[in-house]
Amino acid sequence: MHNRKRFMCLLTAFCLFLSALSLAGCGKEETPSSSGKESGEARETGKTGETGDPGEMGETAPALQEDIIGDVAVTEKDGLTYAEVDVYAMTTTMQLKAYGDRAPEAVQAAAEEIVRLDHLLSVGNPESEIGVINAKGEGEVSADTLAMLKKAGKVHERSGGALDISVYPMMELWGFTTEEYRVPSQEEIDSLLPLVDQDLMEIEEREEGALVRLKEGQGIDLGAVAKGFTSDRVAQIFRSYGLESGLIYLGGNVHCLGSKPGGADWRIGIQDPGNSAGIVGVLAVSGKAVITSGAYERYFKNEETGKTYHHILDPATGCPAETGISSVTIVSPDGTLADSLSTACFVMGLEKSVEYWREYGDDFEMIIMDDDGLIHLTEGLEKSFTSEGHKVKIIYR
Ligand code: ADP
Ligand code: MG
Repeated sequence: MHNRKRFMCLLTAFCLFLSALSLAGCGKEETPSSSGKESGEARETGKTGETGDPGEMGETAPALQEDIIGDVAVTEKDGLTYAEVDVYAMTTTMQLKAYGDRAPEAVQAAAEEIVRLDHLLSVGNPESEIGVINAKGEGEVSADTLAMLKKAGKVHERSGGALDISVYPMMELWGFTTEEYRVPSQEEIDSLLPLVDQDLMEIEEREEGALVRLKEGQGIDLGAVAKGFTSDRVAQIFRSYGLESGLIYLGGNVHCLGSKPGGADWRIGIQDPGNSAGIVGVLAVSGKAVITSGAYERYFKNEETGKTYHHILDPATGCPAETGISSVTIVSPDGTLADSLSTACFVMGLEKSVEYWREYGDDFEMIIMDDDGLIHLTEGLEKSFTSEGHKVKIIYR
């Protein structure tokens, strides 16, 4: 199971699956952000990637459920040992790249940790910590899951509930969990809305971890937070192997360990939400996570309404968040925070996100693309972001 050949076979199968989708006409959808201008395929896409890196992969199909670790490839680059491994986990493709004497061991250990975390968190696995809680209404969680719950809890509170991990029953209602998409009736939405409130969930801390109890009918999903937490963990593992330089791609999100060998910043492309093949600009960055949420990542079009519906729901309405922005990128040394905030800010929209940043933004910066194609950039990124043909407006404190 743990071999590159199998991994590549599955990726090839996925590519065929995508072409089949296009042939069947599923690729002719309007993207939610582009009101008729662009076409997009019914699939998830990669978001951010190091520029000039041909190795970046798009996200993968839900049909491939098993976690798979590819073989570690080892070469020499810039006079250092360089190791790279591909991982399929958390229903997405990931790539770990690291420089340093112990890079081969470090990427292998990190890949195994990713798989372990996926087994803790997967909503699709009835035996995961989250799976058990959703099935039984309560369950024990480990210190790692508790750490995520706490950080998500803080962002939930500060964002006025824009991030709410108990949005899961609503995700099910819209068919995002099974890919059997549908537009629910207002009555259906109204009947589930009272359950979407993570404050109703009880967390009883234990010596290690906690006991989590949900209200009847509630369900939780750490999908908005887990990849950021995972990238923090991978960076921590890399450091524990004495590495100072590496890049962690988790389904389009990027976490940079240190700088490039030699000390230059990494150059991370920020994806164009209206065109999966393009970027809106390049960010020069070291030692930070660069995490994006966008309306283009997963969506479906309903023939009856003629509208597209994406996967980030506003917990206040139970519907896809519509706040006039098409993507939010958060840049922070804290990947878990960046992931939580990318989702929260997408739901809050520009003005509220800016208020949030002014109040709590000591440890993060933002790049927000609005539906008119204007890029709003917080001042800490002014010198490090270069736009590719888009107007940029700087937000000051
Ligand atoms: P992605 O995981 O696609 O990179 P996000 O980090 O924005 O993007 O997370 C989106 C996921 O978070 C959704 O697939 C869903 O599982 C969950 N989710 C959707 N809306 C919310 C919300 N308002 N609060 C918390 N989680 C959400
Ligand atoms: Mg997120």
